Amino acid sequence: MIYADNAATTKMSETAIDTMVKVMKETPGNPSSLYEFGQKAKEVLEEARRTVAAVINAAPEEIIFTSGGSEADNQALRTAAKAGARKGKKHIISTAFEHHAILHTLNRLKEEGYDVTLLDVHENGIITPEEVEAAIREDTCLVTVMTANNEIGTIQPIREIGEICRKKGVTFHTDAVQAIGHIKIDVQQDNIDMLSASAHKFHGPKGVGFLYVKKGIPVTNLIEGGAQEKGRRGGTENVSGIAATAAALKEAYDNLEKNAEHISKRRDKLIEGLKKIPHSALNGDGTRRLPSNVNFCFEGIEGESLLLLLDDRGILASSGSACTSGSLDPSHVLLAIGRVHDVAHGSLRLSLGEDITDEEVEYMIKNVTEVVEYLRSFSPIWRDLTSGKKQFIL
Ligand SMILES: *Cc1c(COP(=O)(O)O)cnc(C)c1O
Repeated sequence: MIYADNAATTKMSETAIDTMVKVMKETPGNPSSLYEFGQKAKEVLEEARRTVAAVINAAPEEIIFTSGGSEADNQALRTAAKAGARKGKKHIISTAFEHHAILHTLNRLKEEGYDVTLLDVHENGIITPEEVEAAIREDTCLVTVMTANNEIGTIQPIREIGEICRKKGVTFHTDAVQAIGHIKIDVQQDNIDMLSASAHKFHGPKGVGFLYVKKGIPVTNLIEGGAQEKGRRGGTENVSGIAATAAALKEAYDNLEKNAEHISKRRDKLIEGLKKIPHSALNGDGTRRLPSNVNFCFEGIEGESLLLLLDDRGILASSGSACTSGSLDPSHVLLAIGRVHDVAHGSLRLSLGEDITDEEVEYMIKNVTEVVEYLRSFSPIWRDLTSGKKQFIL
C-alpha cells in the first residue's frame, strides 16, 4: 500500500509515539496542580513550549497550545477582528483558496459586520504582495494568507506580504498548517504576527496544534475556563499530546532539508510521468510548491472514480474536492485558480511521505495512467471531447 495522502494527515513518527507514551506513563499529573506530581507535568508542558517556540524563532510565551489547526485559525481571526473593532477597523483581507477553517470563520465575521476582501489567486496558485498592498485600506485590521495551500501545495510569498503589513501597521496571520515541519519558517524574518499549526500534519498526534501570537497583541480567548495558557485557552492541557507535538516538530526540523530534497526529487519525477497522460495538467506552480505535493486534473473523468480504482490498486490518494461530503461542488481551490467545473472534477492529489521510493513513484505513474485511460474508455464526456462535440480545455 502506498499512502499518498499526507496532506490530509500523517502517520505519527516513532519518536512522537514514544514521547507520548512516556509522558502518559510517567507524568500523569495536572500541570495546574501545585504539588510536585502536577509540577512535573508543568515542566513537560513548558519544555514542549520552548521547543516549539525555538523552531519558529518565537518566544515561549508567544505559543498557545490548541486542539489543532482549525482552532488556531479561529482564534487568530477572532483575535485580530476584536483588536481591529476596538480601533474601528473592520476590514479583513484574505484569499479565495484558504482552508475552510479560515473561510467559514470569515463568513461568520461578515455576518457580524466585518468587511472581507478575498483576493483572486492566479492560475499558478500564487498571489502577489502587490495585490495585497493594493487591497489594504485605512480600516484594514488583518491580512490572512496561508503559507502553503493544502490542495495544490503552492507556497505564497509570505515574507514580502508580512513586510507590507508591517509597513502599513496591519496584523498579518498565516495558516502554516501545511508548511510547518516541511519548509523553513521563521516568524521574525518572515514578518509574521500570528501563525497556526497542527501536529498531525508533521507526524505528531491528531487533535493538537498551536497558535503563535506576537507579544503585544491582545489574545481573544475562545474557550472560557481556567487560567491555563495564561488565560488564553481554558481547559487542562493535553500534556502528552503537546510533548509529542514538540518531539515531532523538532524531528521534522532536524531532518527538514534532507527530507525535502528526497521528496521533491520523487515529486518531480511523478509530475513528469503524469504529464505524459494526454489532456492532463498540473495544478499550481511547478516549483513554488511543497516538496510533497502533486495535484493534477485529467480531462473527461471523475476524480471520485479515479480514487476508488486507485484504492483497489493500493494507492491512497485524494481528489481535493468536496464531493466526498455529499456535495457535487468541485474544489473551491481549483475553481479559485481558474479551472472550470468539468476539469476541476477530474482532479487527483498525491501528497508524498518522507519514505517514498522510486519504485513507488513508478508504480503510481503506471497505475494512474492505466486507470485514467480505463475511465475515459466509457466516459460520455470523453466521447464528446474526442468526437469534437465538446472542446478540449487541457
Ligand atoms: C489540516 C489543515 C487545517 C486544519 O487543521 P486541523 O488540525 O485538522 O484542525 C487548517 N489549515 C490547513 C491549511 C490544513 O491543511
